[in-house]
Amino acid sequence: MSAGPLTTPERATAGAAAGRMNLLGLPPERLVQFLEGIGEKPYRARQIMRWLYQRRVIDFADMTDLSLKLRERLVDVAELRTPPVLSEERSADGTRKWLLDVGAGQAVESVFIPEPNRGTLCISSQAGCALDCAFCATGRQGFNRNLSSAEILGQVVHASRELAPAEITNIVFMGMGEPLANYRNVVPVVKLLLDDHAYGLSRRRVTISTAGLVPQILKLADECNVALAVSLHAPNDPLRDELVPINRIHPIDELLEACWRYAECLASRQITFEYVMLDGVNDGVREARQLVSLLKNRPAKVNLIPFNAFPESHFRCSTPEAVDRFWQTLRAAGIVATIRRPRGDDIAAACGQLAGRVHDRRRVKMGDKLIGANRL
Ligand code: SAH
Repeated sequence: MSAGPLTTPERATAGAAAGRMNLLGLPPERLVQFLEGIGEKPYRARQIMRWLYQRRVIDFADMTDLSLKLRERLVDVAELRTPPVLSEERSADGTRKWLLDVGAGQAVESVFIPEPNRGTLCISSQAGCALDCAFCATGRQGFNRNLSSAEILGQVVHASRELAPAEITNIVFMGMGEPLANYRNVVPVVKLLLDDHAYGLSRRRVTISTAGLVPQILKLADECNVALAVSLHAPNDPLRDELVPINRIHPIDELLEACWRYAECLASRQITFEYVMLDGVNDGVREARQLVSLLKNRPAKVNLIPFNAFPESHFRCSTPEAVDRFWQTLRAAGIVATIRRPRGDDIAAACGQLAGRVHDRRRVKMGDKLIGANRL
């Protein structure tokens, strides 16, 4: 398949000022095309990808199996640019958070969560978010724009260099933004995360978390088959309409139907349902039973997330007793459920606390610009 001419967004990420092409995050066939354009053989693409993504080298001069002439040429015409770091914070529990500058006053956050047997990087896909979930700090910020593939993968490149020699073993799209509303730029990143010449992660170690964009869930099933987490948060439509407003466009029945279709394509055959525990809102036995009837005998597991507060949030986290009762009700019905331990909450790095910096938010109406802005 011919790769076609380089698109405007690809050029836009190239740092037009210097006229250099940012090669970070380019799909392999585009990288080949770029190299052919400067008279190089296609296999050079694999070499550059291995240096960048596996050996964590971003300086062409250090790529010693490329000829000196090619290295010099690349310095002239190309670059490997990650978003500049504005600040870094470290939590008492070892969690690290970076605030990255994506230009024009926008900044996004990525978070590394170390655990005994794995290291998970949580990355952002948009500056802000248009979905406006009632309990989420990013939603409060409004939406500015989609991140480019270079800006999304740049978070991984930056973190992996900072963390060396430690490894990032898992990537979750659970930072700022709705990854499936930026489908066009997220999918090439996912492909590089899976590509043996890039990060080579297994599909089970890459998780896309979505508030429930049904057409994109169905399309993703054909393309990537990575793990899927769905932010359900309520077991009935009236409540979910309030907490996760995208539900008014894609209600629970339609969403679950798409999930079961997606699960058929997965090796693990299981979807994770995220459920934020909000005191007196969605944490009663009645809601737990409703959730059981939605998920019983389905390829589903549930992750209960204690609500993480942020300035101006008017919800409270459920009591430990309520969380335990909810969990017991699911378990008694044979549904696998875990309770997520908050990590990095002392540096506002826990789920839903990422606020980054979103200026000039163009609040867009759901179902209109949000969905239309990045059509499939
Ligand atoms: N837009 C995507 C991914 C971003 S949020 C999505 O909705 O899934 C990642 C997870 O954190 C989601 O399940 C989200 O609902 C949850 N979350 C958001 N705000 C939270 C908060 N204040 N406390 C706990 N979890 C929260």
